[in-house]
Amino acid sequence: MSYLYELDKIAISVKSHRLLKQLLNENPKLEEIMFGAKNETEALIGVKNWVLEILKDNTAAIKYYENGISSSVSFQQLDWADIAVIRILDYVDNAGREFIDLNLRGELAISNPIKLIWLAVNKGTGGAKPDFFEDMVHLFRQLMDKDERQTHSKEKLNQWMSRFPSGLDPRIIKLREENRDRILNIIIDKIDEGEINDSKYRFEPSLSRDEKLETALQWWQESAFHLRFAIRSADLLNEMLGYSLDPDTMQILHKAEKEGMPFFVNPYYLSLLHVRVPYFAIGADLAIRHYVVYSRQLVEEFGQINAWEKEDVVEPGKPNAAGWFLPSHHNVHRRYPEVAILIPDNMGRACGGLCASCQRMYDFQNGYLNFNLNKLKPEETWPQKLKTLLDYFKNDSQLRDILITGGDALMSGDKSLKHLFDAIYDMAKTKREENETRPDDQKYAEIVRVRLGTRLPVYLPQRITDKLAEILREFKEKASEVGIKQFVIQTHFESPLEITPATKEAVAKLISSGWTITNQHVYTTAASRRGHNLKLRQVLNEIGVLPYYTFSVKGYMENYYNFAPNARAVQESIEEKVLGKIPEEKLDKIKHLPETAENMIENIKQIKEEADIPFLAADRNVLNLPGVGKSLTFRVIGITRYGRRILQFEHDATRVHSPIIEKLGKIVIIESKSISEYLKQLEEIGEEISEYSGLYGYSIGETEARIPIYEYPEQDYKITKELTNLEIPVDRGEIVSVDN
Ligand code: SF4
Repeated sequence: MSYLYELDKIAISVKSHRLLKQLLNENPKLEEIMFGAKNETEALIGVKNWVLEILKDNTAAIKYYENGISSSVSFQQLDWADIAVIRILDYVDNAGREFIDLNLRGELAISNPIKLIWLAVNKGTGGAKPDFFEDMVHLFRQLMDKDERQTHSKEKLNQWMSRFPSGLDPRIIKLREENRDRILNIIIDKIDEGEINDSKYRFEPSLSRDEKLETALQWWQESAFHLRFAIRSADLLNEMLGYSLDPDTMQILHKAEKEGMPFFVNPYYLSLLHVRVPYFAIGADLAIRHYVVYSRQLVEEFGQINAWEKEDVVEPGKPNAAGWFLPSHHNVHRRYPEVAILIPDNMGRACGGLCASCQRMYDFQNGYLNFNLNKLKPEETWPQKLKTLLDYFKNDSQLRDILITGGDALMSGDKSLKHLFDAIYDMAKTKREENETRPDDQKYAEIVRVRLGTRLPVYLPQRITDKLAEILREFKEKASEVGIKQFVIQTHFESPLEITPATKEAVAKLISSGWTITNQHVYTTAASRRGHNLKLRQVLNEIGVLPYYTFSVKGYMENYYNFAPNARAVQESIEEKVLGKIPEEKLDKIKHLPETAENMIENIKQIKEEADIPFLAADRNVLNLPGVGKSLTFRVIGITRYGRRILQFEHDATRVHSPIIEKLGKIVIIESKSISEYLKQLEEIGEEISEYSGLYGYSIGETEARIPIYEYPEQDYKITKELTNLEIPVDRGEIVSVDN
């Protein structure tokens, strides 16, 4: 506590003073309240009375302020200024609340913006930073109707979208060929010099240089080659990128190595990075680059990263944070009643690369995960263990959906995958048979959906072979007979530049097997540039992939660099995604797309043409909450001295949760980056900041509705209400909230 009060004595900087002056000049009423108040309490009361007066006859806004999403009002019906009033009132109502800030390794943060303004006005103290005052200037402009809600013409949105080429652009394809040859020539040199000795990938001594390149080009088609030659050190990464990384970046990467952070960038994925920057696509590859090149904050936090997904922390014999008992520590993850994740004990624990903002950095820092691919072969005991794990699905009253991931589900070899599919088939069949003996309203949910979580169409499209497609097709045919109806490959594209001819071919093979492919996009700073996500959705549709989620970046300060504030996710969904808004009457047609999944490309095209939209905006923008559920239903209830916003979330009311959410209360998150810092970062990567005007105003979010294609199929029997494998402690307390 005393530490926090000490901060009140800190003098504000010259820049903060200037912004404060601007704030008061623009808002004489605020100035009057601040100078008139003898202390912070009077300042709070003064501001509250002032804004309540503005709100007086505005029934809709009052309802929303008091009841949020439970009111009959949607925040999109509110005036732009109403949103500012609600934020100010929330600031007042939550004044003085303390929060554990996991961005600052558990330091206490306190929110009291009105007090900070009062201190700054009357004493020149409070320690509030310029980013805090920037946010305040925008807040009061919004209140005074000097800041308008933005809408954009179709032409403008199309223009933004056209800034980002896809990897199918012939000019990009040519550049990637150059990149590929550069990388292969380095590998050839290393083999010739004896620096690399491999029993499989080596040359006959008689081969000329051209013949070696020919041979290496054939290797390029094999997934094993890319895994074998994946780059595992900073210096090699730089060498492969033609020594184009600057000294500051190299210093960070060397530090990362020292801290034990793994590097794993396969040659194919590396070839997607521009070394010779094309004039028509300057900065277009940043969403890829920022997934490969670690940031200073990530390296500094490595070793101190806090687990975001609290329900992944499992103690034997105890339920997880969502209340579920699990059959094993590391193989089953569960948040919801209907679905659980299965992580096999084999290569499936690894990925084709390591995404810089991956939540699993937490496990890498603890040494639990690694890229020792040779050690990830399944052990002899695996078949028995798998049976035990799948028995958990069979004997659970509500589980109907099994998501196989890792790592990456397709990192498992064909044999392992086939074995896994056989085991799932047996389990689903037995679960169905056992149901026959149960009375109607006591039946267990049968398995209706199988999903594979994989980024290999992006990281390693060479892995998607005809043989793999055949295995997938066979499983679908067989499993359909035991009631499984939905076969989904859930992938993770970040950028339209990741969609290359190789990727397109890989996706076509997956589609030919009759599986539906959906995408989970992570909304990093570079991926949050105006138009980037629009283009990604468009090109995904063109190759037959449906957008599923746009996820805000999870995590704390380790992901500072890639984090785009949730305000931007709301802005994107309202101002940009609207370009692909699916008309109501098309939803049913989309729902039936998986029935002819083999024709996905043509069917999506037809719907787009009929609806006259450039893509199907089938995804929802959400944050995976650090506890249970996904949501973008929030209100900004506070702000730190650094201008970092404090968001209070509610659960997504449209899906079934563990009953524990009733005990959890609201979830509070302190963002790792202020809006102002985010905008500066965008400027640094070449964005025109005026294009983002209005961003500060998005202090309320509401989770979008899920489209019916993502619903479970209806069943013709009644599932029991009993929840097995669940224990809700009498008083669980606030296990995920960081509210102190
Ligand atoms: S593919 Fe997924 S699990 Fe693998 S590193 Fe990337 S984000 Fe993490």
